[in-house]
Amino acid sequence: MDEKRPLGQHEVAAKAPTKEDEFFRKEEAAARERAEADRKERERAEQKELHYMRCPKCGAELVEEAHESIMIDKCPECQGLWLDHGELEKINTREKGFLSRWFS
Ligand SMILES: [Zn+2]
Repeated sequence: MDEKRPLGQHEVAAKAPTKEDEFFRKEEAAARERAEADRKERERAEQKELHYMRCPKCGAELVEEAHESIMIDKCPECQGLWLDHGELEKINTREKGFLSRWFS
């Protein structure tokens, strides 16, 4: 006689994920995402610490120099100049056509 016994609870759980399984799967995925975001943030902070106010060409520490109202970061080693966002436009406004002389 071919008698079929009903499936036990564990056997059922192994076949179809329960709402609880789904909950823990989502929790684990969210925890992995948070850990990844933390890792990226730490990496970004380390890179900033390493490169902040350093010449992108030779690595020397930049020195801030004021030219009227514009602050220019100057490299004492290779004499390179670094302008913050918007400062080139300020120079161009003051020295009419400064940019167009170079980039036209
Ligand atoms: Zn330099």
